[in-house]
Amino acid sequence: PVNAEDFVAWVRRAAELVAADADRLTRLDAAIGDGDHGHNMDRGFRAATDAISGGTLPEDAPPGKVLMTAGRAIVSKTGGASGPLYGTALRRAGKALGDTADVDAAALGAALRAALDGVRELGKATEGDKTMVDALAPAVAAYEAALADGSDLAGCVRAAAGAAGEGAEATVPMQARKGRASYLGPRSTGHLDPGAASTALVLGALADVVA
Ligand code: ADP
Ligand code: MG
Ligand code: MG
Repeated sequence: PVNAEDFVAWVRRAAELVAADADRLTRLDAAIGDGDHGHNMDRGFRAATDAISGGTLPEDAPPGKVLMTAGRAIVSKTGGASGPLYGTALRRAGKALGDTADVDAAALGAALRAALDGVRELGKATEGDKTMVDALAPAVAAYEAALADGSDLAGCVRAAAGAAGEGAEATVPMQARKGRASYLGPRSTGHLDPGAASTALVLGALADVVA
């Protein structure tokens, strides 16, 4: 199982990876959007890290509370489509975890599923629309498949992170049907979706921490 400390470490690691790749994310968004995704993500995950560090959060806060606090910070500090979407994902995941102190593989899977449901409800995107859903949905499916095969939590997370990366790559030939990139119509093909790329980073961060 993983505990609150691991979830704090996840958010911190995600912030590190996003900061390191902010220029790449912004370049991806410049190609098919408005060129601010790296900036938005960097700002959001910095705010999330601040919100869960430095005595703001009670010492004994459970994992669910860590994620809800991080999600709220992202919503309040991040502009663009991605802020509310990532914020909703983290808040829904946190809510799904409830007050549990030790999160096992099944509970983490349910939290990731809740995050995906939240993103889908808010953004109304389905797989193939060239959005973060194209990284998150296969990640959740791979996690659940690994869990059903008897993998431990680390194995499930590795499977999810791998699938997120592959899902992001698979957005290249897609034509965007949601978000700013959809304004380009067929010209949105041939580019990696920035939000799918950042989702792969965030799930990669989870793998770095627990797997
Ligand atoms: P904005 O487009 O407002 O500038 P960002 O650049 O930060 O916001 O984020 C763009 C990313 O948000 C896209 O690459 C896509 O993955 C994701 N996105 C946009 N609209 C949606 C949506 N309706 N559902 C899911 N994801 C979306
Ligand atoms: Mg943008
Ligand atoms: Mg923008």
